[in-house]
Amino acid sequence: MAETFEHDVVVVGGGGAGLRAAIAVAERNPELSVALLSKVYPMRSHTVTAEGGAAGVIKSNDDLETHCYDTVSGADWLADQDAVEILVNDAPRQLIQLEHWGCPWSRERDGSVAVRSFGGMKNQRTWYAADKSGFHMLHTLFQTTLKYPTITRYDEHYAAKLLIEDGRCGGVAALDLRTGSMRAITANSVILATGGAGYVFAFTTNGAIKTGDGMALAYRAGVPLKDMEFVQYHPTGLPGTGILITEAARGEGGIMLNRHGRRYLQDYDLGQPLEVTDPRHPQNRMMELGPRDRLSQAFHYEREKGNTFKMEEFEDVDAVHLDIRHLGEKRIDERLPFVRELCRDYQGIDPVHEPIPVRPVVHYTMGGIDTDIDGRTALPGLYAAGECACVSVNGANRLGSNSLVEILVFGERAANTATEEAGELKRPNPDALRTQAKDEAKRIQQTLLNGANANGGVRPAHVRNKLRKVMEAGCGIFRDAGTIQTACDALAELSEQAARMTLDDHGGAYNTQLINALEITGMLEVASAMAHSAHARTESRGSHQRTDYPERDDAQFLKHTLAYRQEAAAPRIDWKDVTITRWPPGERTYGR
Ligand SMILES: Cc1cc2nc3c(=O)[nH]c(=O)nc-3n(C[C@H](O)[C@H](O)[C@H](O)COP(=O)(O)OP(=O)(O)OC[C@H]3O[C@@H](n4cnc5c(N)ncnc54)[C@H](O)[C@@H]3O)c2cc1C
Repeated sequence: MAETFEHDVVVVGGGGAGLRAAIAVAERNPELSVALLSKVYPMRSHTVTAEGGAAGVIKSNDDLETHCYDTVSGADWLADQDAVEILVNDAPRQLIQLEHWGCPWSRERDGSVAVRSFGGMKNQRTWYAADKSGFHMLHTLFQTTLKYPTITRYDEHYAAKLLIEDGRCGGVAALDLRTGSMRAITANSVILATGGAGYVFAFTTNGAIKTGDGMALAYRAGVPLKDMEFVQYHPTGLPGTGILITEAARGEGGIMLNRHGRRYLQDYDLGQPLEVTDPRHPQNRMMELGPRDRLSQAFHYEREKGNTFKMEEFEDVDAVHLDIRHLGEKRIDERLPFVRELCRDYQGIDPVHEPIPVRPVVHYTMGGIDTDIDGRTALPGLYAAGECACVSVNGANRLGSNSLVEILVFGERAANTATEEAGELKRPNPDALRTQAKDEAKRIQQTLLNGANANGGVRPAHVRNKLRKVMEAGCGIFRDAGTIQTACDALAELSEQAARMTLDDHGGAYNTQLINALEITGMLEVASAMAHSAHARTESRGSHQRTDYPERDDAQFLKHTLAYRQEAAAPRIDWKDVTITRWPPGERTYGR
């Protein structure tokens, strides 16, 4: 029998969104007990790797309206504007709250909070803690959770299934990685804060834990995944590892050079901001500070023109240079110490003296679990926030530094809703939930642990490696009907192979191969939602660039994509209107 632990609210995810949500529940209702689950120790969540910073209007030369407009236009008008307004209006309060909890934001000389430029933002509004912003934010949140006795942590617990009874979510079945035993963790509200799914692509800044588990959990429970075709490429990853060189390097003045030493972004449509007559928008050329989708696309064109250089040591991949030498050692050490550390340790160069080779790399999933602006999903009792959710503030292209505030604003918001509604629904029958957890343990035992596929089976790593290459080849920076269809077919074939996965480790304690196998089945479902959504959207918008449909088509596609899972078939694709409040769709030009 699966051991059962009863709580009022379960938060799945110990990253920024999950920790912020757990704190919010504890603060709002100290009577409620909160379970905080994470498949890794919380401080190892991806939020810790965030370097550049978090956007929030704080300076007198900036204003909320401009932050909203930058976000909406950067999103190629696919963001829901009511959600964007909530994000932007609440961002400064959240960042100040973090300061009060101990986050060491960097300072100007006069002691006020320092802000830096970020891509697609017309004004400087990105708060930072040197270039280890996520590290400091996550520490701050983590240590704050320790204050609340009502929060019980389940570290190194892998949520394998949502427990659903009487049409509502009543907890999760989770494997305790230390022993391999299945536990039923029950509650009236479940908040998914499981992060993104960039690891379904071969070349990514995302750690191996970013496998889209929460998206797959919700999807299997009938909740649609929204806007999954929108996957962000960041223009500056280290060519061998995919390690991110933060946009802050360009925010501080770094420039992009092709193999001829030309600052090539001047040749692309990234120059002046839109409203050059508006005194709030300086008439500078955005160039390196253009949005990420455009910069990644410019790299592709440079490669076609033969302006990139090949790196023999990494199977001849193409790269360009990011040059920060002119900033000088003092400024680099003060503002970008981590960039220097990463370049030395992983690229063997010192950016004080040499330009940094970089190439575009998968970075962020704009799509995710469809939620309303209060974090609710279509399944009663289930909520979602952070990168696993699509609320949607990022639309077709996220602006850098918006997601570290998204996890705070919507982490708290989803938690407030979950707290209020925890008491409203009838508590599901615990015996029924326990039985479901037991059945899940049995399923895993019979399909993966008992060696049933030992003959003729495939190893999980084989399926995973293929899947990641398929996505890179079929759904990369540019796609068309042919490449996407090839990806869809290959994914269907890989799903069949995945049903025959065989393990070398049949034990209970820290069976990482088993966890990989469970993650892979989820990755395949998430990837399939991405590919089929990309197939259905026959236009180009933001990060979704179809060479066979190069224009944006508002008449047909100013809509969110909804992918619904179907048993043993391709997902069903449906559409949902975008919420427009104050900013009607316009042309997204950045000058020239
Ligand atoms: C290298 C890098 C740099 C970035 N820099 C910036 C930046 O400067 N500014 C910015 O705004 N954004 C940045 N981003 C994006 C931003 O950091 C993320 O979008 C954000 O931190 C995601 O937070 P999250 O809480 O949603 O997810 P995460 O921090 O990824 O946390 C997910 C949590 O879910 C848990 N989990 C997942 N699956 C399961 C499961 N099955 N069972 C139990 N637990 C599970 C994990 O253990 C983890 O605790 C960056 C991203 C990367 C990759």
